[in-house]
Amino acid sequence: MSTAFSEPTNSPSAAIPEAERSLDYRQLADAVLAGHAVTHAEALAILQSPNEDLLAVMDAAFRVRRAHFGLTVQLYFLMNAKSGLCPEDCNYCSQSKVSSAPVPKYNILQRDQLMAAAELAAQRQAKTYCLVISARGPNEREMKAVEEIVPEIKAKYGLDICACLGLLTAEQARRLKAAGVDRVNHNLNTSEDYYAKICTTHTHADRVQTLHHVRDAGLEICSGGIIGMGETHDDIISMAMQLRELKAESIPVNFLNSIDGTPLQQTTHLTPQDCLRALAMFRLVNPTSELRISGGRELHLRSLQPLGLYAANSMFVGDYLTTSGQPPEQDYQMIRDLGFEVTGGVRSDADTGTGRADVDSTSLPITPPALAPITLRGGCGGSSCGSGNCGGN
Ligand code: SF4
Repeated sequence: MSTAFSEPTNSPSAAIPEAERSLDYRQLADAVLAGHAVTHAEALAILQSPNEDLLAVMDAAFRVRRAHFGLTVQLYFLMNAKSGLCPEDCNYCSQSKVSSAPVPKYNILQRDQLMAAAELAAQRQAKTYCLVISARGPNEREMKAVEEIVPEIKAKYGLDICACLGLLTAEQARRLKAAGVDRVNHNLNTSEDYYAKICTTHTHADRVQTLHHVRDAGLEICSGGIIGMGETHDDIISMAMQLRELKAESIPVNFLNSIDGTPLQQTTHLTPQDCLRALAMFRLVNPTSELRISGGRELHLRSLQPLGLYAANSMFVGDYLTTSGQPPEQDYQMIRDLGFEVTGGVRSDADTGTGRADVDSTSLPITPPALAPITLRGGCGGSSCGSGNCGGN
């Protein structure tokens, strides 16, 4: 299938001539819906599109988002189950051994604390409870804790479980599957070429290996990255296309929250338009994947935050790992104002253990619940840590 460029080109290039950057975004969206795989050049044209094209770019992304996800928004809830004790050196992460950021430090939480967080996730209409630890990978004690708590959470609250535990062996992935984990988060974070610039204690290949273990175990893949770490547009596109090859069911896109005390402190210069172009590019490259606006949403999208949901169909509700999100009520209001609706959450009777909504077909009215106070959090600037998503997610 041809590209949507006025002068078609397939050449992967860091510098497409201006004349060739005239992209018909609507035509590209239609081509994607007909099965076209976005080329590197097309993806680059989206990331380099001028601000005056922004609404046309978002319209193209929305055409694809609407075809696959309608007007629904899936909410995710993060729980930092082990914080601040990681031996890895991910430069963006406030929990790394090279960070002096004052984050909470604690070992894996007790059962009651993890269950209390699950109850809050259910109250907040989250579809998925993301159980995160800061670690290179889980030790046996942590594996057992996850294996014990997951069936209990699923039985009582009906939440989907995404485990973010760091690098996994094939056997650990199989054990998580057997315990009832639905999905594993482990982010690529950036391109293979750029990876050594942000981390030296493990490699991009290590991360990809874990994702293969996850797939081989029959688990869904949640994997995304962090924008704003000094990478090039080509790096971002390379990551988006690798996630397409991996058929990631879920892609969290973080925008670096450059936390003081980390090697990447005060290095991010993203604009809201940059963030929206990135989200649109990820949507067009990965049309059927869940796309989640993750860490850095409020910080970098600012007043343009609602526009992100024209490309993405998912977001976190509540706080990130070591940084605060906006109050859930504002999230619900934003979704309502857009005319979108939360889907796949747990019915309000979930806290009594009576079950969950029909995830495939039930959209829930957004009614901000009375929230129980909970202060169990810590972690990165962002999110899925053990997976290295800390800029964000
Ligand atoms: S991103 Fe994850 S693996 Fe990297 S330092 Fe943070 S907690 Fe450790």
